[in-house]
Amino acid sequence: MRAVSAVASDAPDLFASEQAALDAARAAHAGNGDAQQALGELLLHYERLLRETRRLVQRSDRAERNMNLLNLRLQELASQLEYRASHDPLTGALNRAAVIEHASELLMQEDVVLIVLDIDHFKQVNDTFGHPAGDAVIQTVVCCLSELLGDGAAIGRVGGEEFSVVWSGLTATEGRLLAELIRAAIEAQLHPAPIFRPVTASVGVSWNARGSTFEQAYSRADQALYRAKRSGRNCVCLSD
Ligand code: GH3
Ligand code: MG
Ligand code: MG
Repeated sequence: MRAVSAVASDAPDLFASEQAALDAARAAHAGNGDAQQALGELLLHYERLLRETRRLVQRSDRAERNMNLLNLRLQELASQLEYRASHDPLTGALNRAAVIEHASELLMQEDVVLIVLDIDHFKQVNDTFGHPAGDAVIQTVVCCLSELLGDGAAIGRVGGEEFSVVWSGLTATEGRLLAELIRAAIEAQLHPAPIFRPVTASVGVSWNARGSTFEQAYSRADQALYRAKRSGRNCVCLSD
């Protein structure tokens, strides 16, 4: 404590001349000293202090505006980061981690249908038309799913050419029907040049009672997808 007060008493008084003018004005007011001169000094200091205060207020307003802009930019960057951490950059679909998080949360509350689809013979598309054309097919498939299911649907890219759709409140039969709609929409979808032939997908569906884990739901859908591939592709299989 002593050290602090020693430093404080050693520190120069920034307002020493203003204080002196004030003391002189006080003395003149009490009848001691030249009142005219004291008032003149006081006016000089008061006007200077007013100018300085105006300048400081303007500077602090500017600093506050800059701070608000920086805060906005920070919020934008934070939401961009959040988006990038949960979405696939090529298609804008949820990435695998986000699909797992979303489906796991939903499974704790409701029965969930998990649809997993995989583009058929996609390697041939790449080999025949090139990797960029393959990328365009992947983007078109996700657009096709969004148009069919709406923007709010949880469409995920869970692998290179493998996608998922998570839907709650459906029976197994309704889930299978939805999967069939998805399969038919992908088959009917037109693709940008040079791909003038239909691209198809095989689809696996699992119906999962509330309380199932994501791993159980995915494993069932994946087995059904495997059966769809073995059954000749471009078809839907429902898990047992
Ligand atoms: P299947 O009908 O059995 O699914 O055959 P497939 O050829 O679709 O499957 P396979 O697993 O043999 O090949 C998948 C290919 O997908 C191989 C890989 O190079 C390609 N692929 C994965 N991710 C991407 C991507 O982001 N862009 C492109 N253009 N190709 C990708
Ligand atoms: Mg494939
Ligand atoms: Mg695959």
